[in-house]
Amino acid sequence: MHEMSLCEGIVQVLEQEAERQSFQKVNRVRLEIGALAGVEISALRFGFDVVTRGTLAEGAALEIIEQPATAWCLSCMRPVKIQQRYDPCPECGTYQLQVTEGEDLKIKDLEVE
Ligand SMILES: [Zn+2]
Repeated sequence: MHEMSLCEGIVQVLEQEAERQSFQKVNRVRLEIGALAGVEISALRFGFDVVTRGTLAEGAALEIIEQPATAWCLSCMRPVKIQQRYDPCPECGTYQLQVTEGEDLKIKDLEVE
């Protein structure tokens, strides 16, 4: 499951941050997930619970912020919002879009102690 390895990656980042900023425990993690990141939120939540067991993030609340995707429309010559990768431009209806944002998953912030 792809979400499981994403969660392992998140825990690794948390452990590195804990060392760098010397905190002992993570209470809350806020993740920003792009609409095109291909992440199943329920699977991610499940994976997070499993992977954080016995780590500094055990029991931490996982808050997920879903970010809309942005693409550059070659026909309108400006950025537009899209919901899915192969959506047409919401303004002009063409498919000449280049995705510029919305493929990432990143840790936005943490609550620690
Ligand atoms: Zn357009």
